[in-house]
Amino acid sequence: MKKRFILIIGTLFLIIMTSHSQNKRELTPAERRVIIDKGTEAPFTGKYNNNKEAGTYHCKQCNAPLYKSSDKFDSGCGWPSFDDEIKGAVTRKRDTDGQRVEIICSNCEGHLGHVFLGEQFTKKNTRHCVNSISLEFIPLKRERAIFAGGCFWGVEHLIEQQWGVISAVSGYTGGKLKNPTYEQVCSGLSGHAEAVEVVYDANQISYQKLAQFFMEIHDPTQVDRQGPDIGTQYRSEIFYIDDEQRKVALDIIKRLTQKGFDVATRVTKAQEFYKAESYHQDYYVKKGSQPYCHSYVKRF
Ligand SMILES: [Zn+2]
Repeated sequence: MKKRFILIIGTLFLIIMTSHSQNKRELTPAERRVIIDKGTEAPFTGKYNNNKEAGTYHCKQCNAPLYKSSDKFDSGCGWPSFDDEIKGAVTRKRDTDGQRVEIICSNCEGHLGHVFLGEQFTKKNTRHCVNSISLEFIPLKRERAIFAGGCFWGVEHLIEQQWGVISAVSGYTGGKLKNPTYEQVCSGLSGHAEAVEVVYDANQISYQKLAQFFMEIHDPTQVDRQGPDIGTQYRSEIFYIDDEQRKVALDIIKRLTQKGFDVATRVTKAQEFYKAESYHQDYYVKKGSQPYCHSYVKRF
């Protein structure tokens, strides 16, 4: 009896832990019919069939991001159609009907719909036919941030790969000269820092997470240098766009200071940002190599 009791408690604990690790939302009966019992909603009835807003489609059950609005197209079939998924987010499996290919959420295995190939709708020749009820749309909230932490090639390269980042551009800011060239910034006389302007979706990554990541991909304790690069243009600086960003940046520095870091990072109001010459953009992607003085070090 006692053993049985322990087994029941153990099983319950396991169920709670598993559902917690996937952050599963409780489903309504209509959602269950599709997501768990693999039903199909009637065509032209789903709320996202005609949705053309920019944003990200997440799994209704576990909130994992599955599809980008930029991959959505109008197939006329009556269900939301996408010609690509977010890498690794969707799993394909043979449907029990033996003919179609079912698509499920890779994280929670919730049923999404089916995928069809070779229909010539788009260049990718793929149609993920997804039930609206399996999805939760989160609109794009476009925001801007500017960071300087040594050679911009490395900062741009690592930030660009972060989930939620739309673009990262290398450039110059924080100096006096208008439209400076790389040579003028390198001389140290223009007062600019090599910096990266980031455009991100604040509904996918918060400014706090982004700024913390920035503090973990360069060494914020180095003064006017970063590794082998020496000079004021390689200083560590957060250029805040608004007061909220300023508060977040100061709080991050305070937390690092409390952890014993002698932080040199300045926090300054953003000024004009000048995009750098085109050969500085996507430098490591073009070169096919990794940054020489930037890498991720966990500090939070
Ligand atoms: Zn899911």
